Amino acid sequence: MRKPFIAANWKMHKTVDDALQFVEEVKRRLPSEEILTCGIAAHFLALYPMVQQTQGINLGIIAQNSYDQFSGPFTGEVSPRALAAAGVKYVMCGHIERRTIFHEDNDLVAKKVAAVLQAGMTPIICTDETMVQKEFNGEVHYVFAQLMNVLHGVSFDQVKNVIISYEPSWAVGVGQHANPTLAEEGCRLIRQSIADTYSYEVADKIRILYGGSVNPDNIQKIMDKRDIDGVLIGRASLDADNFLTMVKRV
Ligand code: PGA
Repeated sequence: MRKPFIAANWKMHKTVDDALQFVEEVKRRLPSEEILTCGIAAHFLALYPMVQQTQGINLGIIAQNSYDQFSGPFTGEVSPRALAAAGVKYVMCGHIERRTIFHEDNDLVAKKVAAVLQAGMTPIICTDETMVQKEFNGEVHYVFAQLMNVLHGVSFDQVKNVIISYEPSWAVGVGQHANPTLAEEGCRLIRQSIADTYSYEVADKIRILYGGSVNPDNIQKIMDKRDIDGVLIGRASLDADNFLTMVKRV
């Protein structure tokens, strides 16, 4: 059985104080049974104090990005080695906003995924669709191509440690989520392509998340789908009450 993974993606929101206050609130009210994994993706400044604050509880701290090198003259970048040493467990790689605003391409994302794995963390590999229409044909092929390019250096042993998210670009940040059947179909086809490239056994273990306008009203229907193992939540995760409602609903 794959353990559900519910992750908040705070993007560039919240100060360090805001972040720590939120975590304090969640710590008080987080259900103690570990039937799912929860995580929060915060900006770099907040990560280390959040790791300190969440020792011993079921709340993983996620970086939203990292560089593909461990050290060197790369002004303004953050190394995966530094993140791992700070206690960060997961790193998002290739989010749609990194791709569209910061022009990250598959080659760079692939290198970042490899570096995150080498540093002993779990990459959350984000796949998106740049297509506007919601029919499947073209879009799904695009997701596959993107995913396979990004996974090309990931070995059979390593792939078991990745998480993949499927986030149709037209559903991110707009308040319009993919209908759950469509969302599941995307996740199922990603799983199928992992099975074809690696093995069914591996595909069966990998967690595939859906992201795009998830909120307390739609999370249940999305999580009810067999091939969706969790969600990446942007805007609706900024409020602690909302976040906890969603965690408790799963
Ligand atoms: P959203 O963002 O929930 O605000 O659509 C999701 C994401 O960017 O991961």
